Amino acid sequence: MTSSRSNPGRWVAACVVALVTVLTTVRAAGAAPLILAEDGSARASILTPAEPSPIETYAAGQLARYLGKMSGTTLEVVAEKAGASAPARPVIAIVRTSLARGLKMQGPQPKRTSLEAFRMVRRGDALIICGNQAGVACDNGTLWGAYALLEMQGVGRYLSDELGLVVPRKAVIAVDELDVTDAPALEMRGGDDTAAGYLARRMKDGVAPELMGFGRQASARRMEFFHAFQYIATNQVRQEHPEWFENTRNSPHGPQPGPSPHIGYGLADNGICLVRPEIRKLFIDFFRERFRANPTLWAASIAPDDYVLGDRCPCPGCQRLLDIGGAPSFPDARGAPRSASDLLVSFVNAVAEGLAEEFPDRKLITLAYLDYLDPPKRTRVHRNVIIMPAPLSTRNELSPALDDMVAGWRRMGAQKVYWYGYILTRPPIPHLMGEWYRNHRRRGVDGVYLEFSPVPVMNAISGWLYGKLGWNPQADVGGLIDEYCLGLFGPEAGPILRRFFLAAWEVNPPLYDEIPALFAAAERMAGDPASAIARRVRFFKLSWELYHSSLALDAALKAADVPGAHRIVKAGIGAAENLKAEFPWAIRSDVWLHNTAHMEYSVTVLPALERLRSAPVTQPNPEAPAPGPARCLTNNADVAESDRVNGGVTVSFDQPAGGLDGAKLFDGLTDGPANNLSPGAFPVWHITLDMGKPVQIDRVEICTGRTRARWDIVPIYIEVQLSDDGKDFQIVQRIQPRTLRGFVASRSLYRSARYVRLRLGSLNMWHAVSEVRVWGR
Ligand SMILES: [Zn+2]
Repeated sequence: MTSSRSNPGRWVAACVVALVTVLTTVRAAGAAPLILAEDGSARASILTPAEPSPIETYAAGQLARYLGKMSGTTLEVVAEKAGASAPARPVIAIVRTSLARGLKMQGPQPKRTSLEAFRMVRRGDALIICGNQAGVACDNGTLWGAYALLEMQGVGRYLSDELGLVVPRKAVIAVDELDVTDAPALEMRGGDDTAAGYLARRMKDGVAPELMGFGRQASARRMEFFHAFQYIATNQVRQEHPEWFENTRNSPHGPQPGPSPHIGYGLADNGICLVRPEIRKLFIDFFRERFRANPTLWAASIAPDDYVLGDRCPCPGCQRLLDIGGAPSFPDARGAPRSASDLLVSFVNAVAEGLAEEFPDRKLITLAYLDYLDPPKRTRVHRNVIIMPAPLSTRNELSPALDDMVAGWRRMGAQKVYWYGYILTRPPIPHLMGEWYRNHRRRGVDGVYLEFSPVPVMNAISGWLYGKLGWNPQADVGGLIDEYCLGLFGPEAGPILRRFFLAAWEVNPPLYDEIPALFAAAERMAGDPASAIARRVRFFKLSWELYHSSLALDAALKAADVPGAHRIVKAGIGAAENLKAEFPWAIRSDVWLHNTAHMEYSVTVLPALERLRSAPVTQPNPEAPAPGPARCLTNNADVAESDRVNGGVTVSFDQPAGGLDGAKLFDGLTDGPANNLSPGAFPVWHITLDMGKPVQIDRVEICTGRTRARWDIVPIYIEVQLSDDGKDFQIVQRIQPRTLRGFVASRSLYRSARYVRLRLGSLNMWHAVSEVRVWGR
């Protein structure tokens, strides 16, 4: 998972409320409309059961709030009284009132049986909204029905802030005869929790938060999916039972660590034997306790941690299961020679079977990811295991290979398949997103979670579509974009913003040059800058400027245009600062890639890089080479012994102050975070080598890791400086920006010095150095 960090499931949806797709509507001709409010006075009240659940109370409150805003009056919420006759005046009856007794869902089978279905039916003076009483999620369905009524009346929520809330004023609020049953197409739509759970977790002092922004993304039953091994085979377990882990290691052959602890890596002590009975029992015990302690938890996560699984354990049992796997089909395997799916499924099955007797209806969710994305060759999936493919590296989700992958898991017995998609980490392409969802339906995927990066301009429309398409993957995306633009920007600016979405995301190549003029036109049409529509336009304009600056920055850096990059960053920072000041809800600065944090790092680094670049580099007059061959004066362990000498080099760092072990620069190990030194959050740092005595430097070699596993490595700048006294350093070479993997080397310097200092700068806080070699005589 990319930015999923430890818990990808906690997606709190962007702005999402889906319009009802009317599947089953019966209109009786001639019946007078049921008037709910008219000319500023309420004609109906909202009826709840005598003892409403928190979510029933909440749904009633939402209706009262928004119908009140629309009509300028207050619709009273009243609880039914046991034994009393139905109220005399018209009502909107919420869920299990006596009016809804025995109410069944209608329409085709999936809508009738969906746990989150709702039915909205008018019967005389009553409008009844009720979830599917046959299931565990009746309350969810009821809330979705309440939102559907609001949407029918023109309420829209297009951004995750009040700014995106559109509530039309109406003289008359009325409903005709209607009988609608609707249900989401996907049972899991981004949420890892139920709507009730979402509310309960966030309810403060009995007051629930605004849920309109949460929309209809949830699951009927509580579930979780995150990288779970780390919470089960903890460091404590490893310390208490070292014998369980005696065989495990990071294989020197596998696609193991690179410059940072991120995707595909793992730490040296992360190996785990998946056939060992004690480990299997550890997991069974863990989940038994978890299920016992959490009776509402329907599916628990047994997904491995965020790195390749294979070749961590050389024991015959693990190796036999790896041998079954064969070559992986996808680049996701990150160079692992064998698919680990049979190994993983065999393990997960054993845990599921260990739980099946006590918890026959509870599930375990595992990702199918990295080197276990392929379906297993021989090991069938246990009935209580849910498979969640997460094709991180397969950029084209329409790839037929992914169809085959899903079909393969189905063939191997997977009864439920959820999708872990990365669409929202990419620029929004609404029609393509629609096609992805249609394809999910064709594949028979049961749920879709989308990982997102908090880029405001990307999330706004993508998040809204996310909610829509989870209910109806067949929805016409062109129509949805119209709905979004007209709803949020009104009839004048709306069509202009629609052209912005087309120019920025839908045409190829994009028409970036036209976008400033589109925003200028939209601003003119929006009029008063304080109006809601003008502020929405400005939000999109600033968000676009920020986003676009990161694209332009990449291009400038690739062209080694540092002054240009600096100008771009300044503009991007300006947009980011304005966004932060004017729309603080839209910006988080603790994230990276194409956002303010990226910009903040850039602005820190670029002036330094610019100074660095413009400072003159005096080419020292080369000395005559001292006699004999150049040898490795830093005694690096991966250099042939005859080619190196041990000169007692010492290393110091300016940043961070401590905790780095300079010996790692010479140990010959270049893979993995354990063998890398990283300045953490510091984008520029210095490494100083004291050679112990003056030597003639021939050249300096620097390795920033050899493993190809990061997708976001950005150029790094390395400056080589030499000094005789450790105080006065002379820059002797700059190694220009490049995307790093492996070694870079200075040219031949032929200069005597005692101290070698490296100044390293990067736009990426994760940049790291694994090896430094100084050659000389
Ligand atoms: Zn093993």
